[in-house]
Amino acid sequence: MNVLIIYAHPEPKSFNGALKDLAVSELTALGHQVKVSDLYAMNFKAVADHEDFQTLQNKDFFKYAIEQRNAAETNSFSLDIQEEQEKLLWADFVIFQFPLWWYFVPAILKGWFDRVFASGFVYGKGIGRYDTGGLKGRKAMLSTTTGSPQHAYTPYGMDGDIHEKLLYHINHGMLYFAGLEPVEPCIAWTPSHDEEDRKRYLEEYKKRLHNLSEIPSIPYHPASHYDENHQLKIEYR
Ligand SMILES: Cc1cc2nc3c(=O)[nH]c(=O)nc-3n(C[C@H](O)[C@H](O)[C@H](O)COP(=O)(O)OP(=O)(O)OC[C@H]3O[C@@H](n4cnc5c(N)ncnc54)[C@H](O)[C@@H]3O)c2cc1C
Repeated sequence: MNVLIIYAHPEPKSFNGALKDLAVSELTALGHQVKVSDLYAMNFKAVADHEDFQTLQNKDFFKYAIEQRNAAETNSFSLDIQEEQEKLLWADFVIFQFPLWWYFVPAILKGWFDRVFASGFVYGKGIGRYDTGGLKGRKAMLSTTTGSPQHAYTPYGMDGDIHEKLLYHINHGMLYFAGLEPVEPCIAWTPSHDEEDRKRYLEEYKKRLHNLSEIPSIPYHPASHYDENHQLKIEYR
């Protein structure tokens, strides 16, 4: 498989760095082709603005999504965006490695989504969204770490259900929206606290990497299950 790792942590010696390094070495040893976008090392531009386009369709009124659609049609995204989009098209499986920051991804990764998951490339007219999104046919997995413990992220825990309240936003609203098929995430809870836990997380992650194609997908509805008012059709409730 061609595996792309989108990695967002500012410190190479961090636990996120260790998880990323493990994925590169294990997957390569298993015969997969691996590419890494190390966003901090690349100094990836996180802010979406007019510099993301080689030409502007409307110089008088800047509307980001319209310029994205124009750039997709005319191949005129800035080179850093084009490179990331090409890597996505090359990939069969995408791993997102990041620490949970403010219940979400670090800003550099949010900016990567804003700029790379462009209208006209992963969604929009003629493409659709969800199961027809531009990246369909590819799987994706979140691999994240937390500061709060696992029990805080349960339905009655003080941080709320991590799957339904936090990661749903990314898995459904971003990955699946773009056509990727999200699989069950990998979560290392509070890796800062205990060396034994860290060893166990690395072992568990290694096992998971050895069975990448067996990880269950998260069952989301295809776009056709929704009616014209964006409501889930009664027969699928
Ligand atoms: C801006 C911000 C917002 C945050 N928001 C949230 C939030 O909303 N929710 C939440 O739960 N948490 C939050 N946190 C906490 C954050 O999620 C955790 O600090 C982070 O996930 C820990 O992962 P890390 O890679 O940074 O750990 P690190 O602190 O870098 O690493 C942990 C330990 O692992 C060790 N280590 C590195 N490599 C190895 C190896 N190969 N083997 C064994 N040990 C190793 C390191 O030396 C270190 O001692 C936030 C933090 C920040 C800065």
